[in-house]
Amino acid sequence: MATRLAEYEEQLKALAGELAGIGFMSQGSVVCRYTRCGKPGCRCQASPPLPHGPYYQLTRKVAGKTVTTRLTASQAARYAEWIANQRELRRVLAEMEQISRQAAELILGKTPEPDKTPGDRPA
Ligand SMILES: [Zn+2]
Repeated sequence: MATRLAEYEEQLKALAGELAGIGFMSQGSVVCRYTRCGKPGCRCQASPPLPHGPYYQLTRKVAGKTVTTRLTASQAARYAEWIANQRELRRVLAEMEQISRQAAELILGKTPEPDKTPGDRPA
């Protein structure tokens, strides 16, 4: 048990080290759009059509509301990087949680049983 626990502690430390290497982060998502206007004779109506764009948009939640912001190509590239960093952070945290659950089982000897109350839905 002591060896297994030491392994979990090592894994946890290694993951914490990975966290330290993650740069700036952002929530949300970046999309690239091409649009067509309604003007007759516009290049976007031609055959083959040449749509307008690319337009970059950042969509994120601010105080519970979805907010969309127009970005330049270079801003979009930065945000894409920061959003990837946030995803990486979540992946590392999920691994840390998983290891912690295994460690808890080892330390406590068993998985604590969830309370069974009528009306409870499984998580
Ligand atoms: Zn057009």
